Amino acid sequence: MADLPVIPVIVAIDGPSGTGKSSTSKAVAARMELGYLDTGAQYRAMTWWMLANGIDVNDPAAVAAASGKPVIVSGTDPKAPTITVDGQDVSAPIRGQEVTSAVSAVSAVPEVRARITELQRAIAAAAPAGIVVEGRDIGTTALPDADVKIFLTASAEARAARRSAELKGREAADVAATKAALIRRDAADSGRKTSPLAKAGDATEVDTTDLSLPQVIECVVTLVEERKRRGR
Ligand code: C5P
Repeated sequence: MADLPVIPVIVAIDGPSGTGKSSTSKAVAARMELGYLDTGAQYRAMTWWMLANGIDVNDPAAVAAASGKPVIVSGTDPKAPTITVDGQDVSAPIRGQEVTSAVSAVSAVPEVRARITELQRAIAAAAPAGIVVEGRDIGTTALPDADVKIFLTASAEARAARRSAELKGREAADVAATKAALIRRDAADSGRKTSPLAKAGDATEVDTTDLSLPQVIECVVTLVEERKRRGR
């Protein structure tokens, strides 16, 4: 019997910071041999470029005017994802405090969102077996026709504890300060006018507060496999 053709599967994983989106998305993509796109890294790369070029990130008009300039390229191998701006590897600096503090303001600018959403759609359309795309507005705006939509949540305490553990050794790992910064960023991301952080009506919500990472991965893989079976 001839092999069944590969039908690409698009998986959207949204949710606030610290819910395990990146770890889950990468692991699911690697296990199911799909591509992986970290859309937060794209917004961070845009923000890094604005800061590096002296653009006032609190001036939406200045950010909008410059938003077409940086060339942002994402490598989608889940085992070794990459991100470059104008050919420069920015994977380390985009995780720094300066970018983290400025990213919500930059990503609220509609011209920035339009530009990055366009990149996301092109990357997803070109993924031969499909792709796991993680972010804030993937199921609602960037890829509303995604085959599987997941919305990850967790208590603020659990999210802050995970983020602090990640930051340990790099920057201040103070849980209380991390929690306050995280809540501020989520409020800004949820409250913006253009494509805010939101759960799509047809997304499956998974509360990860009391789940281990392998449990969350298993849950998402099961949902994707079910969807693939139904699609045949
Ligand atoms: O996921 P991460 O914490 O790296 O995202 C950084 C920021 O990028 C978010 O706080 C948000 O402002 C922005 N973002 C967004 N839309 C997405 C992904 C990230 O606005 N789809």
